[in-house]
Amino acid sequence: MARKAPSKARKSPLPPFLSNPFVLALAAVAAVFALAMGVATLTGGGSGGEAGKPAPVQQAAQQQGGPQAGGQQAVQPPPVPPAKLEPPAATSQPTAQASTEGTGQAAVEKPAQAESRPPATTVAMLPPPAPPAQPPVQAPSGNAALWRKNALPAEVPQGKPIIAIVIDDMGLDRKRSTRMAGLRGPLTLSWLPYARDLQVQARAARANGHELMLHMPMEPSVKADPGPNALLVSLDRGEIVKRARAALDSFDGYVGVNNHMGSRFTADRAALAPVLDELHRRGLLWLDSRTTPNSAGIGLAREMKMPWVGRDIFLDNEETVAAVKAQLAKTEQVAKRQGYAVAIGHPHDATIDALASWLPEVQKRGFVLVPVSAVVRTHHAGG
Ligand SMILES: [Zn+2]
Repeated sequence: MARKAPSKARKSPLPPFLSNPFVLALAAVAAVFALAMGVATLTGGGSGGEAGKPAPVQQAAQQQGGPQAGGQQAVQPPPVPPAKLEPPAATSQPTAQASTEGTGQAAVEKPAQAESRPPATTVAMLPPPAPPAQPPVQAPSGNAALWRKNALPAEVPQGKPIIAIVIDDMGLDRKRSTRMAGLRGPLTLSWLPYARDLQVQARAARANGHELMLHMPMEPSVKADPGPNALLVSLDRGEIVKRARAALDSFDGYVGVNNHMGSRFTADRAALAPVLDELHRRGLLWLDSRTTPNSAGIGLAREMKMPWVGRDIFLDNEETVAAVKAQLAKTEQVAKRQGYAVAIGHPHDATIDALASWLPEVQKRGFVLVPVSAVVRTHHAGG
């Protein structure tokens, strides 16, 4: 480009040189001018369209996108954004992801915009990550009562103690999970996110009159395997949130989350906080399994003013029908004392058998069997 300007400068002196001879040369001069004009038009038009303008464009590109990518690299971003745009929109993921990915995409697309001579780039610019990323952030807050929406309808008569029986670890042992879901509830069944055919199993259980929860695997303080993609205190915050979201997206129709194991993880306030934050944003309730007395779960839930409840009784630490029945009796005592009780059991034969005989009788003794959401609704709906 630099050459073209000088070349133009040379041509303007030409006419004077030719006009030296005589006035007769007027015609010739006119002709020369015409020629000069023609040449100027040719060179100017040709270079201006293709070579002349790119210069300013590239300067702009260097000013805006220079620090991030060279001219050639920036050509590639356009295809990337459209692909990236889908996840936030489709998964409707909240803030953290939005902000992280949003800035990342914005950075990528700016250079593309600066260089974007081709119209295609302009198209890529239209859906910048920021706008699509924003709505998902607000969607959950507008959807704050997801736990109410997914709750099993339940009447809670005044003055009667209510009991919620939560069975977690659901979904892995298909045979016993099916047996448990076959009981006449309402029970609250909490499913491991890595169970096979999870959505199918959960829907069948819901159709049989049980409420659904997600049983989130978290790191124990003892040597035990919480399963794949468990939340560990050694993970950074981003990975914790990512794993939590993956688990939350494993099926739908549930009212909230309780922890699978997690005696180490739930005691780590900083690790647990972003998980509860995610639940809160999705409008889900938190049931603290209380696998450790040091769990930060309930304190955090209160501070965040999100719906929560804590486990009162474990039914089957000892897997005999007699032991489970004794724990069910304790559950009734707790319910009498505080107006409600939440007991957690597992799909074990002893638990299934004990519940099979207890469930039809408990209401006759003046207790009301409810899904866990009814306990939350009547006691801790707002933190
Ligand atoms: Zn568990």
